[in-house]
Amino acid sequence: MGIKTKEEYIESIASLNPTVYMFGEKVTNVVDNPRLRAGIEATGATYEIAHMDEYKDLAVTQSPLINEPVNRFTLPPGSIEDLVARVKLNRALGNYVGTCHQRCTGLDCLSTLSIVTYNIDQKYGTNYYNNFIEFLKYMQKNDLVGNAGVTDVKGDRSKGPSDQEDKDMYLRVVEKRDDGIVVRGAKVHQTGSLSSHEIIVLPTRAMRKGDEDYAIAFAIPSDSPGLIHVVGRSSLDKRELEGCDIGNVRYSKYCPTLIFNDVFVPWERVFMCGEVEFAAEMVVRFSAFHRQSHGGCKSGKIDVMIGTALTLMEYNGTSKAGHLKQKVIDMIHRAETLYGCCLAASYEGKRQPSGAYYIDTVLANASKIHEGRELPESIRLMVDICGGFVADLPSDKDLENPDIGPLLKKYLKAVPDVPVENRVRMYRLAEKLAMESADTISDIHGGGSPEAHRITILRETDLEKKKKAAQRLAGIDG
Ligand SMILES: Cc1cc2nc3c(=O)[nH]c(=O)nc-3n(C[C@H](O)[C@H](O)[C@H](O)COP(=O)(O)OP(=O)(O)OC[C@H]3O[C@@H](n4cnc5c(N)ncnc54)[C@H](O)[C@@H]3O)c2cc1C
Repeated sequence: MGIKTKEEYIESIASLNPTVYMFGEKVTNVVDNPRLRAGIEATGATYEIAHMDEYKDLAVTQSPLINEPVNRFTLPPGSIEDLVARVKLNRALGNYVGTCHQRCTGLDCLSTLSIVTYNIDQKYGTNYYNNFIEFLKYMQKNDLVGNAGVTDVKGDRSKGPSDQEDKDMYLRVVEKRDDGIVVRGAKVHQTGSLSSHEIIVLPTRAMRKGDEDYAIAFAIPSDSPGLIHVVGRSSLDKRELEGCDIGNVRYSKYCPTLIFNDVFVPWERVFMCGEVEFAAEMVVRFSAFHRQSHGGCKSGKIDVMIGTALTLMEYNGTSKAGHLKQKVIDMIHRAETLYGCCLAASYEGKRQPSGAYYIDTVLANASKIHEGRELPESIRLMVDICGGFVADLPSDKDLENPDIGPLLKKYLKAVPDVPVENRVRMYRLAEKLAMESADTISDIHGGGSPEAHRITILRETDLEKKKKAAQRLAGIDG
């Protein structure tokens, strides 16, 4: 099959038949719905750049598994170079789409499974690694997108999966059959689930004895019977449906709630089933990969915010203002520090028993903490530079209104040689970059809440080594 073009990708998504609800109504044509299409276009960019001279060396690589060139988003890292390329590709894409391209989570799942299924098999003599490898070949040969079905609804947070009053608060096996399992539950905040061909499910937390039915990993097509995508609201979403005041005129992001209403999974697509002690390894490795992916693409998004700020400085006549230049510098160093931390996590990566490569967990989690704090700060700096129209620019419909439009165009103009329409477009983009809740809130909760990053850092850091270094300098031996 080889590397798909963007058009082939969109055709392949159009050929699926998922069950979808949005704003109280059933959606039968996903690719022609403007809200969903803007998200599908963002994922489509991962196909588009694989055919562009500027990016193809980064986006296309050789798969040792199928001996063919593949899109990098289907290749679990097999070297330090692969780990580094992940970050560079995510930054390039974050810059290209200015929002979430929605394809990193699938790769993060594949990367996790390429390590953990092997480890489970080593302990239990199971066949999960083989199942995974067959699935991976299918993903690579057909150049497919995977969605990460990790976050359960979780019910009462003070209780574990099997202690919940309603036993479906974490996705679980409700029936085991000769040919497979039947699962029930719901996964939430499912970024790009309708832009994906496959839903890859991993456990959301560590599990203990008694949680066996919840310790599951598998992959199923995104249009499987019983699977229901309920598209979540996001700020500015109605504008995409109306086709007016959109901001980012090419791309967007949406995150459905995904209900598994007794869904069948064949055994050959099961990658873990009951091995409770490996749930923690699954989620820790996935989270580390995903937190690092975030840093790559979000440094690319800051690049877009910097471009927006600089353009509006030109349009507003403030390019020479020293304090605004300082603020641009403050944005640049935040993007570069985030990028540097993600790159470091790759360079410090290590080979795992399966042969796949894994990043440095502490650096990956440090990068996500940095992102959670510094993305909002970068937005604040961009808004400061751009001015108040990020908040309340009149609608394009008013600008086009014959009564009020000419007056608005007169009063919304700044520097004489910049068309007022361009200034309006840049403000709309700034608004989208600052206010698109589906993207900006992922800076904080995407890949796990900040406390999860901190706990991982504490657990994975060699604290004894640090104590010994201090004690040696103080002359305390032993
Ligand atoms: C825009 C966006 C996109 C996302 N995309 C995906 C995706 O594609 N796939 C996916 O699987 N997930 C996705 N996520 C989900 C994300 O991983 C979760 O939002 C995150 O793990 C937090 O879970 P939660 O939202 O249920 O919040 P909660 O778990 O309820 O956390 C809320 C707060 O309570 C604290 N807390 C919760 N439980 C406890 C406890 N027992 N003890 C102490 N403190 C506690 C947390 O630390 C946090 O501060 C996405 C999230 C967002 C916002």
